[in-house]
Amino acid sequence: MYDEIKVIGSSHNLSEKAKETAHGINSAVEVVIDKAKADEFIYYLINEGGYLASKKEADKLFSISNSRMDIKAALYEMGAVTHKNHSFIICKADTETGRYKKNFGFGVVMVLTDGTNPKNMKDRRETMDISQDNISKIVKQVLSELDSGAKPTKSAGEIPKTSRAAMLTKLENYEIKEFPIPELGDDDILVKVEGCGICGTDAHEFKRDPFGLIPLVLGHEGTGEIVKMGKNVKKDSAGKPLNIGDKVVTCMIFKDNPDITMFDLNKQNVGGADVYGLLPDDDIHLNGWFSDYLVVRGGSTIFNVSDLDLESRILIEPCAVLIHAVERAKSTGILRFNSRVAVQGCGPIGLICIAVLRTMGIENIVAIDGQQKRLDFAKEMGATKSVNFTEYKGAEELANAVKDAFGGYLADFAFQCTGNPHAHSNIYKFVRNGGGLCELGFFINGGDATINPHFDICAKELTMVGSWVYTLRDYATTFDFLKRAKGIGLPMSKLITHKFPLSEINEAHRTNLRMEGLKIAIINER
Ligand SMILES: [Zn+2]
Repeated sequence: MYDEIKVIGSSHNLSEKAKETAHGINSAVEVVIDKAKADEFIYYLINEGGYLASKKEADKLFSISNSRMDIKAALYEMGAVTHKNHSFIICKADTETGRYKKNFGFGVVMVLTDGTNPKNMKDRRETMDISQDNISKIVKQVLSELDSGAKPTKSAGEIPKTSRAAMLTKLENYEIKEFPIPELGDDDILVKVEGCGICGTDAHEFKRDPFGLIPLVLGHEGTGEIVKMGKNVKKDSAGKPLNIGDKVVTCMIFKDNPDITMFDLNKQNVGGADVYGLLPDDDIHLNGWFSDYLVVRGGSTIFNVSDLDLESRILIEPCAVLIHAVERAKSTGILRFNSRVAVQGCGPIGLICIAVLRTMGIENIVAIDGQQKRLDFAKEMGATKSVNFTEYKGAEELANAVKDAFGGYLADFAFQCTGNPHAHSNIYKFVRNGGGLCELGFFINGGDATINPHFDICAKELTMVGSWVYTLRDYATTFDFLKRAKGIGLPMSKLITHKFPLSEINEAHRTNLRMEGLKIAIINER
């Protein structure tokens, strides 16, 4: 019943195969693939615009009647057809082929893992793409598995018995403590920390401990190198192989909810999941990136980002916030190539916002801030014009300045990237009738803001989205964004204005609080 059956088997060229599969898809395609390769293939399909249905969603989709209306409704409910990014649906099948016989009128890729129906697979295997290269790879993998089976863990070089960690023991006070490096479990990974950015969240913890976590080891914008791993660890959360020496970042930790996986987070951001660097202290202690070593426990998400330099890797977490915000903004349908876009606030978040817009081909950007130094950097990052709000009195005057900067037009779309309630009140005035707005500046409660619902929202028919943190999918998108930004010459690494060794972490935080730089990073001594 499928229009096409592809047998990919253990092909090494998965990203190309995914591209071919996704190209112009508008019907059901079944793909037969080796179980070990399925997740990696799905990752590439998602990059091609696919929406991975959770098991529940897939079951629902295939259990409803054949009526086009019902299918449309189910797709709509999944958010797959309404969201412009998704041009097809991906279902991972754990049942035998031929069960799903439907005419969807929409692209569906059924990823069927080899081994689910050995009888059917046998003759298909004959067409499998096995090159000499592949065979030697498979042999190598089998040998390495045999090898790792004999030893409990793989490790490289000398690993010390203890690790330093900067523990926030009371408000505005880190103490460098020494903790034993624990035995690793079969699913755990030991990472030697290379560096970690200081986040606004860290600044709040340092000053006020709003989460009540003290004592703890902070630092969630970190990266480092794998020095040891348990025998069960083979791949990262995107299906890429993991080896000793690989450079990695972590994302969220999914407690005990088996329903949440990398790909089911289509509509969910990290609220509800934990991250290293914001965990309560326990008997392992090495829970945050402000340390020499981090113990990544089984069940955490981890990504192999060996193809990015240290600065880029430190910027992944804050960049993911903007990838998410711009994805939210795109859902309004207002943001286009030739849009006039206002970005208010030129801290790291606003500056990265400009960079993301630039990599999307948006060129007409006006940056708004009160510090000339930041506005100058905004221009380096790709803003066409800048407006210094300290030169204008009141929202009306400021809105006129923004209008002038766009050559006599208000913005089609605006991003609010400050945590200031007044800035929130003002930004409505910068947007034209029928325009859009994304508010992403309030990571934490920054108080109430006053708006005029008639003038600001109704009369303008404004479309507004809020954005907070990111999804795991945005994380993967961020890796590509960073490469693209570098490719078009944006000075991303200049965002890191200050570097401190771990031993000077208190001074690093104080510098951050004085707002002297942009992104401040701890870079570990070698
Ligand atoms: Zn952060």
